[in-house]
Amino acid sequence: MFQFNLAAKIILVFLAGVLAIVVTFSYQTIRRQQMWDQQWRDTHAETLVEALSPAIAKAYEEGGRVAIQQAVEFYGHSGDHSQDLRWVEPSGEPGSGNIARQVSSITVTNADGTRTAFSYVPLRLEGQEAGAIEVAYSLVDHDHFILESVYASLLSLLAVFSLSTVVIYFAGVRLVGRPLEKLIQQVNDIGEGKLDQPPALRSRDELGELAKAISGMSHRIKVQQDAIRHTSRLSTVGTLAAGVAHELGTPLSVVGGRASLIAGGLLSPDEVKQSAHIIKSEADRMATIIRQLLDFARQQPGTRSRLDLVELCRRTQDLMHPLANKQGIELKLETSRPELWVTGDPLQLQQVVTNLLTNAMDAMPDGGPVKLRLSSSDAEGRIRLEVHDSGSGIDPAHRDRIFEPFFTTKDVGQGTGLGLSIVYGIVQEHGGSIQVESEAGRGTCFQIELPTNADRASVETTT
Ligand code: ADP
Repeated sequence: MFQFNLAAKIILVFLAGVLAIVVTFSYQTIRRQQMWDQQWRDTHAETLVEALSPAIAKAYEEGGRVAIQQAVEFYGHSGDHSQDLRWVEPSGEPGSGNIARQVSSITVTNADGTRTAFSYVPLRLEGQEAGAIEVAYSLVDHDHFILESVYASLLSLLAVFSLSTVVIYFAGVRLVGRPLEKLIQQVNDIGEGKLDQPPALRSRDELGELAKAISGMSHRIKVQQDAIRHTSRLSTVGTLAAGVAHELGTPLSVVGGRASLIAGGLLSPDEVKQSAHIIKSEADRMATIIRQLLDFARQQPGTRSRLDLVELCRRTQDLMHPLANKQGIELKLETSRPELWVTGDPLQLQQVVTNLLTNAMDAMPDGGPVKLRLSSSDAEGRIRLEVHDSGSGIDPAHRDRIFEPFFTTKDVGQGTGLGLSIVYGIVQEHGGSIQVESEAGRGTCFQIELPTNADRASVETTT
């Protein structure tokens, strides 16, 4: 559509120009022709009258005015040219001066629509002005010629119109439409995040320059995006380092303190045993933190394979069942279909489900149902996974922070604050999205959408 509009505009502008040129040219040509014809008639009339002058003078000498009229009419109808000649007598005496001294002419339209041109050549007899000789020229042929010229001009205008329409349309599409289409495609690609593109056109015209500018711009955006990513990575590393120091600091000082007590040798065997237990549990806590940190660091997808999310959730449900049972929680799995396939890393996706279920269970100290729902998403080619709980809900003030590493509202030793940031990272790496809805005191629902990537052939299968 765009191509057509542009080409149509170029055609219209061009044709308007051609029309103006052809019309002006034709008008000038016809006008010049008419002037030239008029001049020819006047000169011809003058020559004719000059040639007849002696005979008219003779007739006047012999027979007076009546003879003049007869002679003029006689000569007018003889010879090669059969113009109508007529003597126009002066209204007064010869010499009264009511006839112009030079040849004059008028054009008259007849009753039948044809036109006649009259040229008047002043006549002098015996040195006196004696009226004029009127020479009448029929303009039938002349007008016919003019009409044909107009037709010829119109015909050539039509030919130029049609030919240039075709030529400009194709040239417009080739030179402007297609290159623009490529540029638009490239700009759209850049908009969708495909940065650092080579120029879409190699032509050495303005469009080529525009393509180079767009490519340069996409390159600069990429460089800046990399710089931003680098900065945000650095800030994440900073946050992580601070978090690790804080999280490991407490158990380490507990371990150190207990170890000093044991080393002091003043403890009873029971107290030594108790300290050893504390050291063990603090060591376990540190191991958990380190394991989760490793999970967080390893967020790029490992192996990708086709997997049935229903089956994966069922397995995770079975694994979590004993723990849930202990807390009086019933884990329910609801699925819209017996199988729902996605492409992803099974271990990472299992971790996502485990982390969400653990959080849901933590939010329900008094027990109750936790629902794991699976369905095809409204968005085509995506699967939705939901974890519903009817627990404490998320405080609105914390909503924006829950995905931050080390953000936790749980007691020391209960949470590391890494669970949701791991979930977020894994979902992102799988090309999915995550949303949360929560109402304080009523419960929380985490919704994850994952692409199905149904094209089995393009998928690396490791199962
Ligand atoms: P952790 O569970 O170790 O605290 P997470 O990153 O998994 O770390 O969660 C961060 C915080 O988000 C939790 O401390 C809690 O406040 C909140 N949260 C996460 N899931 C839920 C849930 N289902 N219900 C209520 N709060 C939740």
